[in-house]
Amino acid sequence: MLSNTPFEPTDDDLSWLLGQDNFDSLLFIEADKVRQRIYGRRVYLRGLIEFTNYCKNNCLYCGLRTGNHRVSRYRLSKEEILSCCREGYDLGYRTFVLQGGEDPFYTDEVMIDIISAIHTAFPDCAITLSIGEKSYDSYKAFFDAGARRYLLRHETADEDHYRKLHPASMSLDNRKKCLFALKEIGYQVGSGFMVGSPYQTMENIITDIRFLQELKPDMIGIGPFITQHDTPFSAFPNGSVELTLRLIAVLRLMFPYALIPATTALGTLESEGRELGLKAGANVVMPNLSPVGVRKKYAIYDDKICTGEKSAQCRFCLQRRVCNAGYEFSLDVGDAKRPEKSEK
Ligand code: SAH
Repeated sequence: MLSNTPFEPTDDDLSWLLGQDNFDSLLFIEADKVRQRIYGRRVYLRGLIEFTNYCKNNCLYCGLRTGNHRVSRYRLSKEEILSCCREGYDLGYRTFVLQGGEDPFYTDEVMIDIISAIHTAFPDCAITLSIGEKSYDSYKAFFDAGARRYLLRHETADEDHYRKLHPASMSLDNRKKCLFALKEIGYQVGSGFMVGSPYQTMENIITDIRFLQELKPDMIGIGPFITQHDTPFSAFPNGSVELTLRLIAVLRLMFPYALIPATTALGTLESEGRELGLKAGANVVMPNLSPVGVRKKYAIYDDKICTGEKSAQCRFCLQRRVCNAGYEFSLDVGDAKRPEKSEK
């Protein structure tokens, strides 16, 4: 029954379900049925280019925070970014994700030049940005230059919790404002949160899910919090893989049309974590396309995987993993599907 109508749990249902481990296999089977009804067995690929690890923000959980002086900083030039795209294109990728810290070096003008160059060289590819909080006008200018997707996790939808994870200069209000601006402009928007971030409660997670229902994102990225040794949260434990998987399944049931990645963080805490994520309802993987020489420096958390392999190795490793998990490795652009008008 669950596979034909979106799941609409109450807060009590959610806290009960997320706190149980005895129903996981049933939950994952139901979630998998829903993803297969909408997306079949296809798993979409997104080539991730981590183009700068400079950041002006000071988020307490992130190794790229401006206060971390132990990370060696790098920036990729437009030519280097284009050559990552070329390599990705030749490997079959048709989506590029430009992710970075909030780095003032990349002014709007610089970003527009990079986006336009990618758009001109690879007109059949989708350009996704993940570069944090900007103004409406900047987002609009990036869209006009050819960007069509934007990933901006809300991180936590609870005000008090938000303040515990971020410096006073940042606000949940602005994060939300950015997300709604991106939607208004016409981006396919991805949001999400960390599972098991310091001080997170079950109530916070329910608030996160309710916020996602309000935002209606096309993509939902969740991954376990992972300790980074040079941050103020160095003594906090990692988030739970089990809870992350359960949440992926619940999100798949509640948001049948969402694109949900099996994240690198999941693969970092558990060797087959991404495969388990796919089996719990995820349908996207994000192989790394950054030059090998800089990968270890994009140290948002400790022991990140896929930092030593060349892009081609990552591609074939992921293809094998996706196929072994029983899914199809899809090189399509992979836009989010939307419900027919008659459906909810
Ligand atoms: N500056 C961009 C990109 C941030 S990196 C932005 O603000 O959106 C992408 C994501 O990594 C973040 O949104 C955060 O949810 C996640 N992340 C950061 N530090 C992490 C940690 N220690 N453990 C797990 N995930 C982390």
